[in-house]
Amino acid sequence: MADILEMTSSDISPARDDILENLGIPSGQELSSTVEELITEALGLFDRTCSPRAIYAPVTVSEFSGIYHGEGLNDQKTPLGDMYEQAREIVLFALTIGKEITEKISGLFLDDNLALAGVLDATASAGAETAADRVEAHYWDREISAELKKNAPDIYRFAPGYCGWHITGQKKLFRFLDPGKIGITLLPSYMMSPLKSLSGAIIVTEKSSTFGNAYNVCKQCVTHWCRTRKKIFQEYGG
Ligand code: SF4
Repeated sequence: MADILEMTSSDISPARDDILENLGIPSGQELSSTVEELITEALGLFDRTCSPRAIYAPVTVSEFSGIYHGEGLNDQKTPLGDMYEQAREIVLFALTIGKEITEKISGLFLDDNLALAGVLDATASAGAETAADRVEAHYWDREISAELKKNAPDIYRFAPGYCGWHITGQKKLFRFLDPGKIGITLLPSYMMSPLKSLSGAIIVTEKSSTFGNAYNVCKQCVTHWCRTRKKIFQEYGG
């Protein structure tokens, strides 16, 4: 059964470095007063216009198998495909930071306020990732048994469209989870509306991995996002 998690804008206020990274600005770089003012203004708008909510539901390995295989278009060999059968917990999730902030970004672009639109867009993307971290931490705190926690399992997050899981995987994920309950709809392109929404699977496993050259998708990966997971999770209460 799915649960809904209500969050506040301050729960998911993004780290400044994450906003800068989304803007392509290296951490530690000195910023002009104009950029500083834009970030302050964007954070204020973020605080006033975002309304984050998530829906999540644990699934069994056999349920996830059907969801993961989706429309049969995944890469032949993927980290998630090799991992989920040994998982101790699998949780499907979807979250949104709401329609109002997306409309605000579009409005700023339409008004040719491109600088603020770009910074708010970067802030909203970072906020959505922070919300996903909060969902993980919430699930960990509420649902993971003390016995499993003692074994210090790893926790990974995967999403359709990344790491070899084909974007069409959204179809079965949505059918199972029904994110329409929190106002997220799946478009024919498999993108979500509102735009600043995320979905995927959280995997809790005692089988740690760094996903090296065994996977073509990892050889081509530029972010290696999975390798920073532990650090991020610890920051948010893991
Ligand atoms: S290395 Fe990149 S593609 Fe591979 S699992 Fe990590 S984030 Fe995904």
